[in-house]
Amino acid sequence: MDKMVKFFDYRGVFLTKRQEYMERIKKVLSSGYYILGPEVERFEINFAEYIGAKEAIGVGNGTDALLLALMAIGVGNGDEVISVSHTFIATIEVIHLLGAKPVLVDVADDHNMDVEQACEMISEKTKAIIPVQLNGRVCSRMDLLCQITDEKGIFLIEDAAQAVGAKFKGKNAGTFGHAGCFSFYPAKVLGAFGDAGAIVTNRKEIGEKIKKMRNHGRGANGVVEIWGLNSRLDSIHAATLIQSLLYLEEWIKKRREIAATYNSGLGSIAELRLPPPPAENEDHYDVYQNYEIEAEDRDRLKEYLEKKGIETAIQWGGIPVHKHPGLGFDDIELPKTEALFKKALLLPIYPTLEEWQVEYVIEEIHKFYGR
Ligand SMILES: *Cc1c(COP(=O)(O)O)cnc(C)c1O
Repeated sequence: MDKMVKFFDYRGVFLTKRQEYMERIKKVLSSGYYILGPEVERFEINFAEYIGAKEAIGVGNGTDALLLALMAIGVGNGDEVISVSHTFIATIEVIHLLGAKPVLVDVADDHNMDVEQACEMISEKTKAIIPVQLNGRVCSRMDLLCQITDEKGIFLIEDAAQAVGAKFKGKNAGTFGHAGCFSFYPAKVLGAFGDAGAIVTNRKEIGEKIKKMRNHGRGANGVVEIWGLNSRLDSIHAATLIQSLLYLEEWIKKRREIAATYNSGLGSIAELRLPPPPAENEDHYDVYQNYEIEAEDRDRLKEYLEKKGIETAIQWGGIPVHKHPGLGFDDIELPKTEALFKKALLLPIYPTLEEWQVEYVIEEIHKFYGR
């Protein structure tokens, strides 16, 4: 069967705004500013303003954003950093790379961090906690997390790679703690045409450090003041991201509309557990990076949809971080995460997805469960 519904439409954004992006790219190519310079500065200002943070620093990708944030707060040998197992390996690998020990906790019903458990795992060695604002939704227990980390003097770093524009009680993902890390990987809500990322922070000292660290630790006049690396946001990506930022609200609106359609179309199927609909709770403004359902008989459903030309996906190749062999997590058990991974499935959701396609997905899922 022909592919009726792709899981993600990589060329979609470019094809609908071809001229606008080409103009931006041409301008950079003619300017000669390929590394840092005016486009990167402009994007950083616009992005900080959009997120409602004092400062944004453009970096090479979302993984580097996490690495640099942890470097800036001094994570190193002997430290522990608490995060979840239901995340991309990037969140956890940067902890390991800095010589610290990742401490993994389970998820709550909303697929985000079980904050109570995270608090129980705090030890003398805990340097930071990294909640992952997964699937475009801010963790519902941010209040508690902010309070506890504040009381105990622990750093709070958000992995907001999936949550650009998401809000909790009116506050943007990325602005709750010491720093927020974003990815502009092409399939993200705000995607670039290649690898790109950013860190936002309200703390001047952290912002200054990261600005140096992303550029080999160099300050004014090229003097190396601290250890760093090369992770600068490319000017070409900055330029296209300035343009994309103009469309972001519209894209998020579209994602929320699709989510609402899935919620009303699939709500009657007892074999499914759906994400909260967009209007369920005033505290949350979700951007639906992913629409992650829990489905009985998941593997057969996935296969059935594939046959009908509908692509779906299972996050992280179907393996939570602690279940990858060779990473040293053999002795831990996270029952909720493990149970979730037997049922979790991502349905297609992106701004260029058409209404008939969403209806078709809904119809075929009904047929699979025999309705
Ligand atoms: C995409 C993603 C990252 C990493 O971003 P890259 O830009 O690909 O390095 C980190 N954490 C989460 C939760 C992600 O979804």
